[in-house]
Amino acid sequence: MSTRARILLSAAIILLALAAFVWWLSVRYRTTPVTPVALPNTNEAPAENVNRAAPTTTPTPSANANNNVSSAATPAPTPPATNTAEPSATAPPQSLPPSASGLLIPVVGVRPEQLRDTYNEARSEGRVHDAIDIMAACGTPVVAAADGLIVKLFQSERGGTTIYQRSTDDKLIYYYAHLKAYADGLTENKTVRRGETIAYVGDTGNAGPGNCHLHFAIWLITDPKHYWDGQNINPYPLLRGQRSEVRGQ
Ligand SMILES: [Zn+2]
Repeated sequence: MSTRARILLSAAIILLALAAFVWWLSVRYRTTPVTPVALPNTNEAPAENVNRAAPTTTPTPSANANNNVSSAATPAPTPPATNTAEPSATAPPQSLPPSASGLLIPVVGVRPEQLRDTYNEARSEGRVHDAIDIMAACGTPVVAAADGLIVKLFQSERGGTTIYQRSTDDKLIYYYAHLKAYADGLTENKTVRRGETIAYVGDTGNAGPGNCHLHFAIWLITDPKHYWDGQNINPYPLLRGQRSEVRGQ
């Protein structure tokens, strides 16, 4: 082999080696950055999900009543609202406490024969009224149907301005809705007497503008602290001095 051929051969070998080195560099250069990029991406995704899920799981329990509020008047208070129909259907027959008798018609000037039994009327979203609507002019005084304790004053979407009153024997809740205003000095934890003015008839909540009436409901409670949870009783016979049945009996 001539010297020239040898030089050419070694030059070719050097070139090849250079090319191989460059190829190796490029491969190495390509793969190394890829891995770090991929890592951050995969780490981010789960982190985001965790963060997103956390805030959503904070429920806001509203300490309010929902219950019987179903009606045109239904108060919006909310939570443990167990509605009447289902639980009562399976409940054993119950006798009414003394606090269910001797009730005063809770709107001044309304006579028993003027009352209409609207307890079983259908309301929106498949609900049953479970209450009586007592029609009266806006501003007519609303009086306590019996002695008791004001346990909650609540602004509800459906019921508007509402009052939850517990009977002196802790067995019943008397519920007044669509009120125009509370009587002066009415507060939660106040004891009221039968016939005492506690509010004024109005059209708040979903009563409809100008459709002034008192939405009045009564339910039996088992736990005095859970004033919103109970079995409905038709106020109509009670306000007419008759016996009433517990819903579902
Ligand atoms: Zn009503």
